Amino acid sequence: GDSAQVAVVTGGNRGIGREVCRKLADGGYRVVLTARDPAKAAKTAAEIGVDWYAHDVTSDPVPLVRHLEREYGRLDVLINNAAINYDTWQHALTADLDVVRETMETNVYGPWRLTAALVPLLRRAQHPRVVNVSSESGSLAGMGGGTPAYGMSKAGLNALTRMLADDLRADHILVNAVCPGWIATDMGGPGGGPVAEGAASVLWAVRLPDGGPTGGFFRHGEPLPW
Ligand code: NDP
Repeated sequence: GDSAQVAVVTGGNRGIGREVCRKLADGGYRVVLTARDPAKAAKTAAEIGVDWYAHDVTSDPVPLVRHLEREYGRLDVLINNAAINYDTWQHALTADLDVVRETMETNVYGPWRLTAALVPLLRRAQHPRVVNVSSESGSLAGMGGGTPAYGMSKAGLNALTRMLADDLRADHILVNAVCPGWIATDMGGPGGGPVAEGAASVLWAVRLPDGGPTGGFFRHGEPLPW
């Protein structure tokens, strides 16, 4: 019915994003799976029985915002999941800055521009939540030389999480960063945990009670060092 909560997930066509969409739908949310490739979005949405809209996080969010406004009238949950370039075994000294720039565009400026554009719709929700799917690779406390583009982007996403949480505190919009843990997806490669485990870490931050934490960084519901 119209009272069901509305959730948008970026990069929902595969991996952790797909599983988050599936679990949210199981939990009674009206899920809008977004993906940059419309054919992939439509195919995955049909498989799991959710709505979809084509959105590349590096592009103008206005078409998506207008679509959500028209079809749903508000937004309860935004999950910034889409990300690229887990550049394992690269090093800061030799990193290709074009790759770093491209990674920042998707992994940081993507969530930044989309969240900002969706705040008016989030303000209409009763219990609005924003979840930024980050990584321990972005933790300054643990940061080494590997994955320079990816690590920089997730450190940026964590910083963004703190800033947005602060900006949106008065609106009671909870904004948190989560690490899903090492998960067997195209990005994570074989050997990681099942997607259900990663999705659970993300969904924990969706289900936070009113007055719950905001501006935090968590994995499986436990705080991680910044
Ligand atoms: P995958 O590589 O399996 O999926 C990434 C998703 O992001 C795909 O759907 C991809 O779409 C989408 N995407 C990439 N660029 C864009 C874009 N410009 N616009 C829209 N969608 C885009 O990764 P995971 O599922 O493993 O990762 C999900 C999140 O979890 C990421 O934020 C990742 O950094 C994080 N994470 C993952 C870990 C792991 O071990 N797997 C560990 C720590 C964090 P397309 O199919 O079109 O490429």
